[in-house]
Amino acid sequence: MLKMDQQQAKEKIASLRELLNQYAHEYYVMDKPTVPDAEYDQKLQELQELEEQFPELITSDSPTQRVGGEPLEGFQKVQHSIPMLSLGNAFNEQDLRDFAKRVSQGTEKELTFVCELKIDGLAISLLYENGQFVRGATRGDGSTGEDITSNLRTIRSIPLSIKEKERIEVRGEAYMPHKSFLALNKVKEENGEEPFANPRNAAAGSLRQLDPKIAASRNLDVFLYGVGEWQAEELPSHSERLERLKELGFKTNPEWKKCQTIDEVLEYVAYWTNERPNLNYEIDGIVIKVDDLETQDELGFTAKSPRWAIAYKFPAEEVVTTLTDIELSV
Ligand code: NAD
Repeated sequence: MLKMDQQQAKEKIASLRELLNQYAHEYYVMDKPTVPDAEYDQKLQELQELEEQFPELITSDSPTQRVGGEPLEGFQKVQHSIPMLSLGNAFNEQDLRDFAKRVSQGTEKELTFVCELKIDGLAISLLYENGQFVRGATRGDGSTGEDITSNLRTIRSIPLSIKEKERIEVRGEAYMPHKSFLALNKVKEENGEEPFANPRNAAAGSLRQLDPKIAASRNLDVFLYGVGEWQAEELPSHSERLERLKELGFKTNPEWKKCQTIDEVLEYVAYWTNERPNLNYEIDGIVIKVDDLETQDELGFTAKSPRWAIAYKFPAEEVVTTLTDIELSV
């Protein structure tokens, strides 16, 4: 990047923020992106680098400091008692090695990582009280989400009752499988309507409809991968939480793997970069998390994301862009 003086940086930062805010609004609020994710990510990174050079120009409303988009009017708002955060990004091997180095410097303990597929859907929170599903919400801006309980109740893989009687909040991703996405866009096109840009936007658009019959007709599914409020018995690691969620009847993604070294993490990333077209749902990367929960606590959070996890993003050219490509892979 060219060296800039403070005035030039200020102008560049302002124009990047304006553009990124517009893209984020189109993506999160309208469910209708106008640019590819890789372009958004690249501009966000450019802004991040400028803010690192000129930290005095960072403001709390910068897209680098904010999670998601504002909740839609028309839905009841849900306050997340534990914020639903985003994840830091890694784009190459070096970023992943740097992540491993940072976390190992932050703890004395031996590290184990858990690698998971990064499901390209909509982050959701499911609250259970006395064994009953009582509230489902979107992430929204991380502190305030939308109450989409009646829409989530239409997804068959979400249990309406569970054996655990303590108040627990389970978090994960709602997504639209490729097959449902293709069928939906076919119908949309036949009706002369504009098709959805990708399965992620189709899932988000379906769950943020006021009429639950629409969500019910869209064949959505979920994978659960984490917890928020948890008044049940505490477990020592993320991997044991995943096992516990599965025992309770939640749908977890079966492809997660424990890795002892960053080289093993890189192997997992390489494997799924190849295998990605054979999945019947969209993934946009790999999430790597520190397994031990005490170490997670030691490492803590930034304003926007945990320090104990990172999202490796697949390169842009890997993105499945055409319907024909997707059709070939379902
Ligand atoms: P993110 O997608 O980079 O990562 C965080 C999210 O990953 C979590 O909130 C969770 O929903 C999800 N996730 C999926 N699988 C997971 C797993 N196994 N474990 C943990 N989390 C998992 O962050 P973000 O803040 O949701 O959004 C940024 C994304 O949105 C980027 O991909 C960006 O390109 C895209 N975006 C695109 C545009 C556009 O105009 N095209 C605009 C804004 C954002």
